[in-house]
Parts: sequence; C-alpha cells; structure tokens
Amino acid sequence: SASLEIRDLRFGYSPDAPVLRGLSLSVPHHALVALVGPSGAGKSTTFALINRFYEPWSGSIRIDGQPATDVDLQEWRSHIGWVEQDCPLLHGTLRDNLCYAAPDATDDRLWRALDLVNLTQKIHRLPAGLDTDVGERGARLSSGERQRIAIARAVLARPRLLLMDEPTAHLDPANEAALTVNMHNLRQECALLVIAHRMSTIEAADTVVMLSNGTAQATGTYAELLRTH
Ligand code: ADP
Ligand code: ADP
Repeated sequence: SASLEIRDLRFGYSPDAPVLRGLSLSVPHHALVALVGPSGAGKSTTFALINRFYEPWSGSIRIDGQPATDVDLQEWRSHIGWVEQDCPLLHGTLRDNLCYAAPDATDDRLWRALDLVNLTQKIHRLPAGLDTDVGERGARLSSGERQRIAIARAVLARPRLLLMDEPTAHLDPANEAALTVNMHNLRQECALLVIAHRMSTIEAADTVVMLSNGTAQATGTYAELLRTH
C-alpha cells in the first residue's frame, strides 16, 4: 500500500458548498507528489482533512493502508510531519528547536537531519553550533534557513508522510534551488505531499496532481501534463 491513499473524498465547510467532490490521490513510499491548482481549489482543505482537523463527508484516507477512522488522533498525527508556510522558531537554541518533537535525538541524528536540508556547513560555522541561540522567532536566521530547520525538526519525529506548504513569497534563486535539493533528499526519509507553487518543485515532483473543481483533474509527471493539457 502507498504511504498515503485518498479515495473519493467529499467535504465542504457548509452543506451547500462542497469543496472536495470526490478527490482521489496516492503518494507512494519515497515519492514526492506536488499538489497544484488555482487559489481556492481546496489544497489547504485537503491538508486539513489529512491532519483530521475536519471530518470528511465521505471517502477514506489511509496511511500505510490504515484508515484514519481506525486510529486515535494522537497516533494518526504521529505519522504525519507538517511544515507550514510560515515557520517561526521557538525562542531558544537550535538544539531546542530541533528536539521539540524528538527530545531523545542524539547529536548524530540532529546532524543527519540538518544534512538532509543542507544546513550542516552553516551551523558548523556558528560560534556555538547547535547551541546557538536563534533569538526571538529565529530572527538570527534567514527565512529560508528557518524553513529548513522546520523541515529538519519535522523529519526528526520520523513521520511516514511529510506535508509541506511550499512558501510562495521571498524565496531567492539560491533558496529555491536549495529547496529542490532538500525535497529530493527528503524522499529517502518519508513520502512527501507538497502544495507546490514553484516551477522547480513541480518539475522535481514524481507526480503532479492538478486539483480543480474539487477533484484531481489530472495526474502525471509534469512532462505528461504538459503534453496533455
Ligand atoms: P481508480 O479507483 O480507478 O484507481 P482513482 O480515482 O484512484 O482511480 O485515480 C484515478 C487515476 O489517477 C488512477 O489511475 C490513479 O492510479 C491515478 N492517481 C491518482 N493519484 C495518483 C498519484 N498521486 N500518483 C499516481 N497516480 C495517481
Ligand atoms: P487552496 O488552498 O487551494 O487555495 P482552500 O482549501 O484554502 O483552497 O479553500 C477552498 C475553499 O474553501 C475556498 O472556497 C475557501 O474560501 C473555502 N474555505 C477554506 N477554509 C475555510 C473555512 N475555514 N471556512 C469556510 N470556508 C473555507
């Protein structure tokens, strides 16, 4: 079974306004699936349903074959890493921030997680390394670095599925390239479903799911979608 399997999902915030009208998609193990679609198509709603913030009207969501309805909320969420668009860090050190969801992580694991997001060199250069104080909301780091630390933090909790809302704004070309590399690396660790805005992410994805009118209007590699749409 795939890491994530969504079947025929139907849901709306009010009974007369369905947002999802039978959405099906799957994220195979170690795959990067990009979720694209116009604003208001239901991408965030899909993430909210995967996280079980709402109950779907009908349809099913499975992680590694296990239906959401069979697991309690805490266990379900332990399978999911979630990186939001805006990633403020906690006040404290880098180590505090990384260990937030994995208090027992060894230094080896911390460095490996940082390596996945290409941050080891940067952190080695900081005066106190992992024990550098990040300042209020991580102010001592750039937004790209904050995001990468948020990704490392999510990965340290060993999720089966990583949900990521890719940042739209303010990614300079260097950070955009870094993000693409990171997503390639992250597939070693878990499956990824990414709300994608950047062309580079869409091109890097194994599968692109185009969400429109509440369903997956098209599914395929970027090259396939270019040929057929
Ligand atoms: P079915 O129930 O006939 O398998 P689905 O509604 O589940 O059809 O999906 C429609 C098509 O899109 C199927 O061929 C399915 O394999 C494909 N599909 C859906 N999501 C993905 C995905 N993330 N990656 C690859 N193929 C997908
Ligand atoms: P996307 O992430 O693709 O931009 P969303 O999932 O945010 O789309 O929104 C899908 C639809 O659901 C939109 O019409 C939006 O206005 C509506 N919507 C989103 N969140 C809520 C909410 N909490 N309450 C009511 N309607 C909502």
